[in-house]
Formats: sequence, C-alpha cells, structure tokens
Amino acid sequence: MRYVSTRGAWSATPQPFCAVLLEGLAPDGGLAVPQAYPRFTPAELDALRPASYADLALAIVERFCDDIPRDDLARLVRATYTAEAFGSPTITPLTVLEPGLALLHVSNGPTLAFKDIALQWLGNLFEYVLAREGRTVNIVGATSGDTGSAAEHALKGRHGVAVFMLSPHGRMSAFQRAQMYSLTDANVHNLAIEGTFDDCQDIVKAINGDAAFKARYAIGAVNSINWGRIVAQVVYYFSGYFQATRGNGEAVDFAVPSGNFGNILSAYVARELGLPVRRLILATNENDVLDEFFRSGRYRPRSAAETHITSSPSMDIAKASNFERFVFDVVGRDPAVVRALWAELARDGGFDLAGTRHWAAVQAAGFVSSRSTHADRLATIRAVDERYGVTIDPHTADGVKAALELRDPEVTTVCVETALPAKFGATILEALGHEPSRPAAFVGLEARPQRCTVLPVDAARVKAYIEEHAAAA
Ligand SMILES: *Cc1c(COP(=O)(O)O)cnc(C)c1O
Repeated sequence: MRYVSTRGAWSATPQPFCAVLLEGLAPDGGLAVPQAYPRFTPAELDALRPASYADLALAIVERFCDDIPRDDLARLVRATYTAEAFGSPTITPLTVLEPGLALLHVSNGPTLAFKDIALQWLGNLFEYVLAREGRTVNIVGATSGDTGSAAEHALKGRHGVAVFMLSPHGRMSAFQRAQMYSLTDANVHNLAIEGTFDDCQDIVKAINGDAAFKARYAIGAVNSINWGRIVAQVVYYFSGYFQATRGNGEAVDFAVPSGNFGNILSAYVARELGLPVRRLILATNENDVLDEFFRSGRYRPRSAAETHITSSPSMDIAKASNFERFVFDVVGRDPAVVRALWAELARDGGFDLAGTRHWAAVQAAGFVSSRSTHADRLATIRAVDERYGVTIDPHTADGVKAALELRDPEVTTVCVETALPAKFGATILEALGHEPSRPAAFVGLEARPQRCTVLPVDAARVKAYIEEHAAAA
C-alpha cells in the first residue's frame, strides 16, 4: 500500500505508510490518501467476526501499513488494545438501547473520549518507528480540551518524543486542566498561553512556518489529519458492526457526531473496505459547515468570528480538515479538480458541488445530516436518560438527535459515543439536575498536583522553551 496526496504530490513516487505517518500536510498542501482501498470479501468479513479487538485491528492495519513487519504490528496492537487501558476486553462494547438502536462505546480509554483509540496506538507506533529510524520528534500542538489530553496521555514517557501542548491560560474547565496538567512525565510540556485558543493556534502556525526551526527540531503534529488516526478508527466500525448484526450481509447505519470529519471519514473508509454500511448519519452542532454541505452542496468554511462556542465544544470547528479526502474520492480521485476547488475556496471563501458533474457521486456516498442546538442536546440527554436509563455526553447527544430524526426502522442505527458524560459535568447538571458519575480512576482528579508553564502570546518565547526541552535521541 502506497500513498499519494489529494493535490497530486507523490503521484510519481507514492510514499509508504511510515513516510506519511510523521508528516502533517503533503508538500503541496494536500492530504495523504491510499492509492486504492483494499477490499474484504464477505467470506473474509465472516472470518473476522469472532476475532478479538487486537486481532481485528491487526487484520485492518496490516493492509495499510505493509512497510512494518506483521509481527511488529501484532505486538503494537496487542500492547495498545488492552482491557486495562480501555476498561473491558471488548475495548469498544455496544449497548442496545432498543431494537434497531444501539450505542457504540468508543470512549472508555484513558481520557474518556474516542481520540484515545487512535492516539494510544500512535504513541506505540511513533516510539517504534522513531527507534527503528534513529530519529526523534517534537510534537507541538494547540488544544482547547480533548485532543491535547489524549495526545499527552498517549505520548507520555515515550522514548524519542517530546510533547509541547499550548492551551489558553485559565480558559479550560477544571476537569480538562487537571487531565493535562496533572501529568508529570518529563517529556510532557503543558504551556499555558496568556491568550485565547486562536492565539495558541497562531503560535503553532508560526513555529511550523519557520522551516529552518521546524527541520532542526523535527517538529511534528498528531492532529486530526494524521492518516494513522483515520486507519485506527476504522477498526471500531468493524467491531460495532459485528456486535450489532448476526451476519448474512445485514447492513447498519452509523450516526457520528462530527467536527473535523475524521471519525466519520473512518466509517466511510470502513464501507470502502467492504463493510455493509448503508447510510452515514452526520451530526453537527450550531457549527454546521458539514450539515450545510450535505444538504446543499455548498462548502463554506467559517471565520473565527462566525464560529460558535457551544456545549459540544469538540465539534466547534470553522472548517473540516479531513473533508478534502472525501472530496478527492467524489471528484474521481483527480488531483487537478481538488486543486481547482481549493483555489476557488481560497479566492471566494467556498465552493458548490450541487449542479456539477460530481454531485451524483456525493449523493451516492450515502451521507445524510442533521444539526443540533443547545436545547436539542439537553432534550436528547433527558430523553435517553428517561427512556433507556443511560447518561450520554453532549457530543453523543448531537449524534443521537440526528439518529432519532433520520433513522430507518428497517435498519439498525448505531450511534457512536464520542466522549463520556463525566467530562461535561455542567451540561449534564443542566439537563438532568445532577452531576454525572465518574469512573473510579477520575475521582479527586482536580485535587492532584498540577504542573504547567505560563508563557505570554509570543512565538519566540515558545520556541526558546522548545529548544531548551527538545526530545533527546
Ligand atoms: C474530536 C471530537 C469530535 C469530532 O470528531 P471529528 O473526527 O473531528 O469529526 C466529536 N466528539 C468528541 C467528544 C470529540 O472529542
């Protein structure tokens, strides 16, 4: 399996998996995509049905990472997907809420959000690839919550890696702060920036824009466009499908709370691999860039000023960074068309596929979408609590709202639980009148000692800090 860029780079020299793993964007600004999707036959799918999560993961990732010896991959997935790390031997168990409606629990990892599934594996993979190649990497990112803590928990204590995570000083919840700042590993650096999340992102951009600095300190990222993350997430769609069905090619619909289009892209890839997935129900909150696209064909990223701060904050996005991978497929995998569309986007602020020769391919891809408000989230959290006795978090509520609205009684709808309610106590309190319960390991989290370095909004100061604390080989 080799990889090309959505904008045409590497077409003549497709890259192996390990080469794209540590890259952010391709040199032409595009995203890495496989040259073709491998395909599982119905017989191969049946054979995978009884597999453990780690064996299922191996069967899927080995098709995408064939430049890593199979035995090594097997060791890496077995070290990652353990009952200790994810709370049960099933790793991503499924709860049937009622016949035809199920919840897939992909958020039982160390930071209680689905991002752990991919990032825990990437932590193991990075360490392995860096050791093999005798390299080091300094991961620099900005976070307003979930991604940063999942990345830190995945990379803490790893050889050859240091993490520098910028967060807005005093603007995260006490729980989120504690999740990150209570890590005391020497290679984890929490930099509390005296500014907003946008200031943090601007500093990360400035650091990546300094090519000499970037090369000298091997600056890397683990953001949502990382192809390794997309592949790792494909596995739980297989697992969820097997748990929700009995076989014979029975199809399901998946409902996915979406922001950067990473999680639902994995569901789309699962279907490309041959999994019988019928529709993909995409849920947004008030930040409805993707809902607008699937309803109208118009893709229009928002400005920072137009981006709402909502009670499902991990879906508060202005543009959907993984969306370009889907567009690449619907325009017939023609990088010239992708380049033209993104040039139009830069010039006019958006593009419109409705009425073009590509719209039929978008519709054939089987996406339907829905948008939620704060009031919808509260109502859905209450309804799920009353009807099924299950507490869901506000992001999952966006997905369940979409599922209830769009579900087809003929097909089982599997809603993906993207975080646990314990992370979003204030919204649960507002909806249900009481705080959510916490997994035992999180009781008293806020009281643990915390460590962070406060820095001004100044890229030069952050660079100086990185120079001083960069990863050693
Ligand atoms: C990151 C995140 C999302 C959005 O996922 P994408 O892959 O960006 O679409 C939804 N819910 C939660 C809880 C998240 O952390």
